[in-house]
Amino acid sequence: MPERVRCFIGGKSVAGTGIEIPIIYPATEAVIGTLEEAAAAEVDAAVAAARDAFDHGPWPQLGIPERKAMLHSIRSSLLENAEELAFLECLDTGVPIRTIRGRKMDRLTGNFELFAESLSMMAGQTYQQDRKFLTMVTHEPVGVAALIAPWNSPLSLATTKLAPCIAYGNTCVLKPSEHTPMALARMVEILHEAGLPDGVVNLVNGRGPVTGAALVEHPGVDLVSFTGGTETGRSVMSSAAGNLAPVALELGGKSANIITETADFEQALDGALLAIYSNNGQQCLAGSRILVQRSIADRFIERFVERAGQIRLGDPMDPDCEMGPLAFREHFEKVLSYVDIARAEGAELLVGGKRAEGFEAGYYFEPTAVLAPSNGLRVCQEEIFGPFAAIQVYDSLDEAIAIANDTEFGLVAYVWSEDLHTITRATQALRAGTVWVNTPLVREVRAPFGGYKSSGVGRDGVRDCLDFFTEQKTTQIPVGKLSLARLGAGS
Ligand code: NAD
Repeated sequence: MPERVRCFIGGKSVAGTGIEIPIIYPATEAVIGTLEEAAAAEVDAAVAAARDAFDHGPWPQLGIPERKAMLHSIRSSLLENAEELAFLECLDTGVPIRTIRGRKMDRLTGNFELFAESLSMMAGQTYQQDRKFLTMVTHEPVGVAALIAPWNSPLSLATTKLAPCIAYGNTCVLKPSEHTPMALARMVEILHEAGLPDGVVNLVNGRGPVTGAALVEHPGVDLVSFTGGTETGRSVMSSAAGNLAPVALELGGKSANIITETADFEQALDGALLAIYSNNGQQCLAGSRILVQRSIADRFIERFVERAGQIRLGDPMDPDCEMGPLAFREHFEKVLSYVDIARAEGAELLVGGKRAEGFEAGYYFEPTAVLAPSNGLRVCQEEIFGPFAAIQVYDSLDEAIAIANDTEFGLVAYVWSEDLHTITRATQALRAGTVWVNTPLVREVRAPFGGYKSSGVGRDGVRDCLDFFTEQKTTQIPVGKLSLARLGAGS
């Protein structure tokens, strides 16, 4: 475990000259390291290193086979170091180690594999309508990217940007969340151990309004890819606008999980619990508004509450742990504050709602659910980003769809039914970037993923990443000599 987390710029570890930020393990509240914040000087140096690697380095000029080979080599090195990375991500986030070892490591290594493979299939276009010209469209790297990652799943979400960014020949500066810096700092070292040329990936750490803002506003940055909260996304977009840098924003959600009376009851129950309580309840795609049809509501709520109360909270390093602590103190306090907000607005607390008992330290919060009388409540409209479900009861499918769409967000939606017409009607009408039918939380990483409305701008996925991380160039060449009008040559 590193005692100090520093910047990594131009292939070297560099001290941050900003403040020192304690790194806290959320399961014990112990200080386990120190983060050296990158001040404007280190951000400048990181952008300069990325700029140099893009403008003068080999990386953007390499052929596809060489870049592909490097991505495969990175994947192998990450696999060799997977246990160390999983340990660091668990220390950073408090997410149960079994979740990290499984789906997060698959996603981390899979991101490099996927974009290595997508390079093989990368192709441009030709337009042949005008037989006097060859017109071809090719993809070229854009330049230096600023990549800003959140704290809820650092390795998989940062590399969802980083892998396509470098695969398509760009260079970058990565800024992880100040709350979860350790696994990504080690990952950047591993990329270099695997042979990535210096300056292609640079790392700066620090608080969003300091290090993040300096990076996004930097005139040397050509494009910005951001995952985080919706309010931060607005500020990132307006800062990037100063440089006319394109932005991709993966933002928050308040997704509806519609449980109909035609659902497979047990599957829907398992799915609803997973959708709100996995990853310690801290995921953008959480099914945080559970809409249950009246005819099954009493039975569903009773069983949901019973199961929520039995979720095994504990040491996230324990492979049997189902739910760990929230990621940091301010976040714990924010999630807790919604219990009073819910009560004050007339919601009924069904389960949880307080600090979990039996832990001397750590930001442990009980799996919580409230019954909300209306979708207008703050607990139904605001992203809590914790293990906190707001349950509502509805009568007709049309009513459920109207409630589901009555939100500023539009990241994902869930519907549970064995009836084809219910499914087709709901999937067409739900205003969300992804609709999951009879399943929670599947991510087909090749397919577009992103939000409608305030949940984002742009999409992850192979085709959209190609569009975002490359410029398209149209080249035209005449077939044979042209007979051009001869201006100034007399008649
Ligand atoms: P956040 O917005 O607080 O921070 C995200 C990142 O932005 C951090 O690295 C932070 O330091 C940085 N940042 C903060 N202010 C900044 C500024 N002014 N300029 C530049 N950078 C700045 O979000 P978070 O609390 O880390 O993450 C939780 C949020 O992320 C939730 O809203 C969640 O829904 C969202 N999220 C979305 C997706 C998705 O794919 N749509 C995935 C995961 C998380």
